[in-house]
Amino acid sequence: MTNDFCNKCGACCKNIKADMYNNILFWDGKMPLTEEFKSMLIPENNNVYTCRYLKENLCTNPSKPDICNNYPSSPFVELPENCHYCGLIFMKREKIQQKIRKLKEEIIHYNALIDTTKDKKEQNQYQRIITSHQKLVDKYKEYGSKDW
Ligand code: SF4
Ligand code: SF4
Repeated sequence: MTNDFCNKCGACCKNIKADMYNNILFWDGKMPLTEEFKSMLIPENNNVYTCRYLKENLCTNPSKPDICNNYPSSPFVELPENCHYCGLIFMKREKIQQKIRKLKEEIIHYNALIDTTKDKKEQNQYQRIITSHQKLVDKYKEYGSKDW
């Protein structure tokens, strides 16, 4: 991330959630767990790991993967308590949620237009817009876009 708010507390390199069976990493949002990242993880308890390169809360990995350098990049990252990126990530997430809310309003609007016209061509045109808007809403389904 370009704005460096990190205070080097090391909290994000502990309590890393991962699903080893399905190769899913719940760290910078939900992402595929690579072999490289997997090899860095030491089990703590059920699906929770600490990075083996974390020493006295500092990273000792001379060639850390890009995802570490870019962390936190996802607006849907679950940040540790007191992470200094909390405000920035909140704003990014809010921006996406606003966009989705606007799309949902437009879906209601185009549905109303479909009900008020008998022109099939117009109806199809509105339906195409609704489908494309809905696709974008569904893109964030796993993060709760249905209720935004
Ligand atoms: S938890 Fe946040 S502030 Fe702490 S090291 Fe990670 S990114 Fe930096
Ligand atoms: S390599 Fe460094 S930055 Fe990446 S998870 Fe491990 S300790 Fe954290």
